[in-house]
Amino acid sequence: MRAHRSLWLLMVAVALPLVALASCAPLRAVVATTEGLMGKLAPAPPERRVHPGVEGVCTATSINWIVPVIEGVVLIDAGFDESGEVLLRALRGRRVLAVLITHAHPDHRAAAHLFNAPVYLGADDVPLLEGRYRYAGVMADLGRAIGTAPQPRTVIPVKDREVFVFGGRTFTAIALPGHTPGSTGWLTDGILFGGDAVLSPTGDGIYPAPDGVTEDMRQAYQSMRKLERLPITTLLDAHFGKLDNPKRFLRAAIARADDEDTLYDHPSPRPVGCGEP
Ligand SMILES: [Zn+2]
Repeated sequence: MRAHRSLWLLMVAVALPLVALASCAPLRAVVATTEGLMGKLAPAPPERRVHPGVEGVCTATSINWIVPVIEGVVLIDAGFDESGEVLLRALRGRRVLAVLITHAHPDHRAAAHLFNAPVYLGADDVPLLEGRYRYAGVMADLGRAIGTAPQPRTVIPVKDREVFVFGGRTFTAIALPGHTPGSTGWLTDGILFGGDAVLSPTGDGIYPAPDGVTEDMRQAYQSMRKLERLPITTLLDAHFGKLDNPKRFLRAAIARADDEDTLYDHPSPRPVGCGEP
């Protein structure tokens, strides 16, 4: 039953009629504004954007995370705004050592081109980053219409379990395909940056992003099973923020995915994003 559509799909409904009227850049602005508006109407609570040693930055409705390390910061995702205005302000001139992208959807990577630092991305999302990937579902039309943001200078495709050390801190790539083919969680010191592959819209469960914006729900839940064996104490997702001990909700998520009647269930529309720029 696919009745549980999200506010994101409302965004799609708003944006699609504009496809014929707008070229790529203006449409991207319309979508970003619409997302931002929804975030203001129903923001996730601000306390979900706070975690010791990590800074949450709201860029339209996606949350980007800054991890201070020795001699700089690591940036997780790079927003929907290719000017990076909000992101650059939050960085306060600190040196970005690496940009770790959770997936190549435009609301997570638009400003990645601004940085000299290499951009690390799941290898199977490189075609999406370069605009060569054919979306499934409603993302097909919207994805084409939004177009692609400028390409980052240096892209490093990553595979599952690849380990990187930036500024003395270790980050492990965890392949979580389903939302997009190359969706990747980034694991560091018990924190999983889950992107849109592992989200907690209401703080009392874990879900992939909803059907329609997720390419393959079944595969997304299959990926989620990996959490069982990973040392995760905190989830920091890309739209709703923090969830402590996300693994306590894994059993319910797997049970939901095992049943065709509940596979597409999703708690949206519920609080979305940050509610402020
Ligand atoms: Zn996404």
